[in-house]
Amino acid sequence: MTPSETESTRRRWLQRAGLAIVAAPALAAFATSSARAAGKTPKADVGYQFTPHGDQHCGACTSFIPGDSRQGAGTCKIVDGVIPQSGWCSLFSKR
Ligand code: SF4
Repeated sequence: MTPSETESTRRRWLQRAGLAIVAAPALAAFATSSARAAGKTPKADVGYQFTPHGDQHCGACTSFIPGDSRQGAGTCKIVDGVIPQSGWCSLFSKR
């Protein structure tokens, strides 16, 4: 690879990286607004985490709706998106 080809490749990589950095907040805002439009709360607003909180986890919450998958992921009556049974958020309510 010639020095000018290397420079061109580096320039293209930097341009793509710059686009990704600029686009990330916009995509996050879009996901949040989509969740609100669907009538559910975004995970980020309720301190959602993919791990249990002590003995509290989504699988033991009144809002959890079991799914069909073997991994035990389902949905939630309140929080947007796929919800693993092992997750937790600040709206937890023991079943
Ligand atoms: S309210 Fe929170 S803890 Fe309960 S199922 Fe939904 S995401 Fe999980």
